[in-house]
Amino acid sequence: MASETVHRSDIGAFARRFAETIQPGDIHLLIGPLGAGKTTFVREIARVLDADAMVSSPTFTIVNEYDIALRGERMPLRHVDLYRLEGVDAVHTIGLMDMLADRGVSFIEWGERLKPLVSSYIEITIDIVSDDARRFTVERH
Ligand code: ADP
Ligand code: MG
Repeated sequence: MASETVHRSDIGAFARRFAETIQPGDIHLLIGPLGAGKTTFVREIARVLDADAMVSSPTFTIVNEYDIALRGERMPLRHVDLYRLEGVDAVHTIGLMDMLADRGVSFIEWGERLKPLVSSYIEITIDIVSDDARRFTVERH
């Protein structure tokens, strides 16, 4: 388990380093309260991976998909926000599990709800340290 405190001004550099660890197919579950910086982090990851469009908050749309470059190969980056999705059944209704099994890379806000449904994932916990800093804890399962 790796833990790191990231200042507001270092988010881009942190995202760049994190992006180097991403493998195609990785599923990232983002865990942290409202305002922790989950959306900000995914936006930075998309940016450093040369996304074709800027990631906007997907809270009302559940899934936003972007075309990224990962080590020279273009693939989808899915930004999912389960905040407004009610019940585990809804995860199946929107076809999320099939989507995650597809090629590409996924980041899921409020992702703790998927833990029982995925066999392998990267858990990213974001804690608010102060107005200007967040602690990121990354754990591979
Ligand atoms: P969430 O998606 O977890 O609800 P957001 O990404 O919308 O959170 O971010 C909420 C606020 O936290 C924003 O104002 C953003 O500027 C700030 N923020 C995000 N990441 C950091 C960070 N690493 N350090 C300091 N502030 C941050
Ligand atoms: Mg958010």
